[in-house]
Amino acid sequence: MAKIYKEIDFSKYSSVKIGGVEKVEILDENSEFNGFVVGGANNLLISPNPPQLGILSDKFDFISLDGDILKIGAKTKSAKIYNFAKQQNLANFEFLKNIPGTLGGLLTMNAGLMGFEISQNLISVCTNKGEFGKDELNFAYRHSEIKGIILEAKFRVSHGFNALLSDEIAKKRANQPRGASFGSCFKNPGGDSAGRLIEAVGLKGFRVGGCGFSEAHANFLINYGGATYFEAITLINLAKMRVKAEFGVDLHEEVVIL
Ligand SMILES: Cc1cc2nc3c(=O)[nH]c(=O)nc-3n(C[C@H](O)[C@H](O)[C@H](O)COP(=O)(O)OP(=O)(O)OC[C@H]3O[C@@H](n4cnc5c(N)ncnc54)[C@H](O)[C@@H]3O)c2cc1C
Repeated sequence: MAKIYKEIDFSKYSSVKIGGVEKVEILDENSEFNGFVVGGANNLLISPNPPQLGILSDKFDFISLDGDILKIGAKTKSAKIYNFAKQQNLANFEFLKNIPGTLGGLLTMNAGLMGFEISQNLISVCTNKGEFGKDELNFAYRHSEIKGIILEAKFRVSHGFNALLSDEIAKKRANQPRGASFGSCFKNPGGDSAGRLIEAVGLKGFRVGGCGFSEAHANFLINYGGATYFEAITLINLAKMRVKAEFGVDLHEEVVIL
C-alpha cells in the first residue's frame, strides 16, 4: 500500500518549540516502519537531521469502557483520558491532568509523578508486533521495553475518581517552571535529584543563547525564545560533564534526543 506522509513543523508541534519542518509517515497497524514514532512531542528534542519519523493515524484516538476494562488508543491525549476518567468516575488516572502526552508516549516513558505511573493498572499493550502483557514490558522508573508501534492498551479500572487527589497534585505542580520545555531534562539518579545536582554545579538559571536551565527548577531546560537544538545540546552536555566531574554521578537524559 502507498505510504502517506504529512509535514510537521516541530518548532510549533513540540512542547519545547525546537526543530524544523519534517516529513512524517502516517502509521497504522499494517505499517512496515523502522523509524521513530512521534507522539505528542512533549518529551522530544529534534535535531536538524532526525531519523525517519512516523505518527499514528487519527483512528487511534479513542477510549472505550467495557465492564472493568478500559481500552485506549495510543494517540489519545492524557487530557482526554483524565476527562473521561472524571466523567465516568474512574480511579487512578487523576495524575494525568498534569502530564502532557499521548498514551503511546506515556507508556514508552512510563510517565508518572508523585508515586503514580501509567503502568500501574495496565493489563496489556497492543503494538504492530502483537499483544504484550504488562509483565513482558519491563516497566521501571521512566523506562519500558515495548517493541514496535504502540496502537492501543488495556487497563483494569476501579471506580471512584478522587477529585481531592487531583487538586492536591495540581497544587503541588503549581510552581512548575513556565515556558516551553520538555518537562524534566534528566532522570533523577538513585537517591538524589537531578535538579539539585545541576544547581550545585552552578547551572541553575544558566543560559546559552535562547535556551537555559530554569531559575525556578534547574532540571527544566527552557526555550526563552528562538532556542536552537545546538544550544540545548550544549547545555545538556555541560550539565552532564560538570555533575560527573564534581560528584562522579552520571546524569541520564529523560528527554529523547533525535
Ligand atoms: C510541562 C511538562 C511537564 C511534564 N511533566 C512530566 C511528569 O510529571 N512526569 C513525566 O513522566 N513526564 C512529564 N513530562 C514529559 C512528557 O509529558 C511525557 O514523557 C509524555 O509521556 C510524553 O508523551 P508524548 O506523547 O508527547 O511522547 P513523545 O514526546 O512524542 O515521545 C516520547 C517517547 O514515546 C515514544 N512514542 C510515542 N508514541 C509512540 C507510539 N505510538 N508507539 C511507540 N512509541 C511511541 C517516542 O518514540 C519517544 O520515545 C512533562 C512534559 C512537559 C512539557
